[in-house]
Amino acid sequence: MSTIFSQIIAREIPALIVYEDDQVIAFLDNQPVHLGHTLIVPKEEYENVFTLPTELFAHITKIGQQLATVIRDVTEADGINLYMNNGAAAGQEVWHAHLHVVPRYVGDDSYTAPVRATDVSKETQQAVAKRITEKLS
Ligand code: 5GP
Repeated sequence: MSTIFSQIIAREIPALIVYEDDQVIAFLDNQPVHLGHTLIVPKEEYENVFTLPTELFAHITKIGQQLATVIRDVTEADGINLYMNNGAAAGQEVWHAHLHVVPRYVGDDSYTAPVRATDVSKETQQAVAKRITEKLS
């Protein structure tokens, strides 16, 4: 079954589309954190960053950069969050990759302070950094 975003792409359900090309579509989130909150979605269905082709991810972020400036100007936001939720633990609810573009304002309380890791000793941090760099090489 196609995702809710594929149904938007196919014009089966309505959305306020602000940008479209052959690879992606961008439309307003229907439950925006702030007015202008936009989602950039690949037209081909990929669940999230773990399966998204690199070139397509690069294109999504390129459009995200362009929209960040435009949306900041239109909404007179003080800042913009660009983020992706990948996996349920990361808050993903729609299983079709998407980049959020969210206007932010000085003093807004849209997001509570994140919970921080408790064990951030030098040794623990070094061990994690080592494992990441080893895996990358
Ligand atoms: P996630 O938590 O998966 O990163 O974010 C999914 C986003 O999609 C949410 O911010 C939610 O408000 C938005 N969304 C879910 N269903 C629809 C829909 O049918 N139309 C639009 N425009 N946005 C949707």
